[in-house]
Amino acid sequence: MKLAHPTYQQLLKDVPNIKKYFTVELLNVPGEKHKLIKCIKHIFADAPLLMIMAGCHGEEPAPPLAFFKNYQRIAEAAETHRVNLVLYPLVNPWGFSRNKRLNRLGFWNSLICRARSFYTRP
Ligand SMILES: [Zn+2]
Repeated sequence: MKLAHPTYQQLLKDVPNIKKYFTVELLNVPGEKHKLIKCIKHIFADAPLLMIMAGCHGEEPAPPLAFFKNYQRIAEAAETHRVNLVLYPLVNPWGFSRNKRLNRLGFWNSLICRARSFYTRP
């Protein structure tokens, strides 16, 4: 299927640049081909923490694309406003890659699947 936007793999090529502004973790999701990207901007321990999760609905690509276009400005805003940031810019890479609302398991994001797999383990 031809997408009207870059693929997740194409977006991930920017990770080396994103690492100039954020601490980046690539998280494994059981059964998923793609890793989830987690971006952390630690300002200082007592600063408020803002967690943002984008890209839940795969057919709504604008928020993840906005992150990948503006991560430098987002990091600068965190510094200006003294806010610790944890960002999951694309939590449903399967749906994003297929223009589908839900992920392959029928959930609205892979982070939930990841958390669920932890909770269901003995
Ligand atoms: Zn939505």
